[in-house]
Formats: sequence, structure tokens, C-alpha cells
Amino acid sequence: MAYAKDLWMRSRTILGACLLALAASLPARPADKLNVVTATTDLAALATEVGGDRVTVTSIAKGYQDPHFVEAKPSFLLTLKKADLLVVVGLELEIGWLPPLITQSGNPRIQPAAQGYFDASQFAEILEIPTAQVNRAMGDVHPMGNPHYWLDPQNGLRVAAGLAKKFSQLDAGGSAYFQQRLDDFKRRLTAASQRWDEQMKPFRGRKVITYHRSWPNFVKRFGLQVAEYVEPRPGIPPSPAHVVELIALMKRENIKLILVEPYFDLKTPQSVARATGAQVVVLLPSVGGDKNVPDYISLFDQDVKLLVQAFQQAK
Ligand SMILES: [Zn+2]
Repeated sequence: MAYAKDLWMRSRTILGACLLALAASLPARPADKLNVVTATTDLAALATEVGGDRVTVTSIAKGYQDPHFVEAKPSFLLTLKKADLLVVVGLELEIGWLPPLITQSGNPRIQPAAQGYFDASQFAEILEIPTAQVNRAMGDVHPMGNPHYWLDPQNGLRVAAGLAKKFSQLDAGGSAYFQQRLDDFKRRLTAASQRWDEQMKPFRGRKVITYHRSWPNFVKRFGLQVAEYVEPRPGIPPSPAHVVELIALMKRENIKLILVEPYFDLKTPQSVARATGAQVVVLLPSVGGDKNVPDYISLFDQDVKLLVQAFQQAK
């Protein structure tokens, strides 16, 4: 009996090991879900809002990284190989790192002309579109217009609506589900937008300095003005001469806030702040920039909260 029991235990162990091996050899994600890969976390957040349980979503860039400059890793290729849909910000935001990865992935579904390539900028209101040819030698990283358009909740909604259509094309059985999720997102976003407008209302017309040109859609939405940038041009680090001019302007116009994205060195903004009596506010341009902003709505909750606090202190 003891022998039989031992054999049973052992065969159970072997069976368990076989099952584990089988599980390991299966794809990690159920094949019936749409495999969505996004360039950035903001697009991932919007895809998750709309796609729910019918999609798996992976962002290549992290929310605390500068989306213009993401270091390519071999693991990105594996992620892209398995994608059914690739969602990009577009307007050349990812030009420094994503195109070679798309080519090298060898995945025909996500090549730029394919059904599974989604350029979210096609759905958004784009600001700062250059009227003259931008000279690339100047290093301007916004040659097609401002690519930080997701920082207007209305653009987030437009992109979400575009995604709902695209998901329905690729997974026709889910179209009612995607529409219902889009409607629900719209309801929550509209309610939240009214709250943000109310909170920001006392500060309409205020002037701020920002490090990079990340915020034109955001400031337009909330009625703020960007008087100048720490970077003389998008992607170009501040020169000493530019810093001197910036300090003079801030003193002249009594500007008390410098908004800095979390991936820039705080040294220059802090020395400008010391010279002008201004505050440096690290404002998050992306979902996942810290643990308080796991989704699209909480990103605005956090940024509006930080701005309101800063304006109140700056009186
Ligand atoms: Zn930029």
C-alpha cells in the first residue's frame, strides 16, 4: 500500500511538472485577445479604457521616460513580433527609436501601411504646425507640429474613439463591447473634465514657463499661457545666454512657475527659480510617470492638483 501511495504521489508530481511544462510552452496570453502594443503609456491607457478584457496592452516606453528618446532594447522586438496592432503617437515623436524596431520585428501586421498600424495623431487636434520648413540642422524635434497632443482630454477622447473603430475592424465580434466601453470612458472623462475646469478656473490667464514644449494642448484647454521655454527649441538644451534672457523675462512679467517634465535635469530650472523667486513644479506628461497616475484620468487629476497648489502658493 505504501508503495502504491508513493507511486501515486510521484505520478502526481510528474503530472504536475508536465502541466507546468505545457503551460510554459503555451503563449502567455490567450490567442483570442487582440494583442495591442503602444509606443507610449498614454496610448496604452486609452487602449485599455476602450479594449477592456478583449485586448492585452503593452507599452514600449515607460511613463517616466522622455518619449522622444527611448533606448531600444532587444525585448522590444519580441513584443512587436507578437503584436496584432501597433499604436503610435506619430508626428515623428518616435522617429529616433521606433522605425528600425518595426522593420526588424519582421511582423507584417504592424508595418506602417498595414491594417495593424495606428497613428493616433490622425485623430487629434494638432497645434504648432510649422508654417515654414523646419530646419532639421537646428535639431527641432517637433517638425510636424506638436506631438504632445494627448495632454488635452478632448484629444484623449478622440483617440479613444479612433481606437474603438480600429479594434472593431480587427475584432468584429467585440464592436458592441468596445462602443459601450468608449461611451463609459466618455461619461467619466466628461465628468472629470468639468471638475478640472472648475479647479483651474481661478488661474485662467496665468503665465508659466515650461521646460519642453509638452503642454500647448494642456494650456489651451485650461486657459494658461506659456511665456517662454527653458529649452530654446524643442530638444535643444538651454544655453547660458538663453537662461539670462529667460530670467529677465520672468522678472519683467512676474512669472512664478516653471513646469518641468520628470526626465529633465532640475539644475537649470532651479537656478532660474532662485534668481526669480519662482517655484519649480515637476508636472507629469504621461501616465505611469509616478505611482499616483495609473490611468488617463488620474494623470489630469494629479497635474491639476499640483498646478492648483503651486498657483495658490505663488499668489
Ligand atoms: Zn516634444
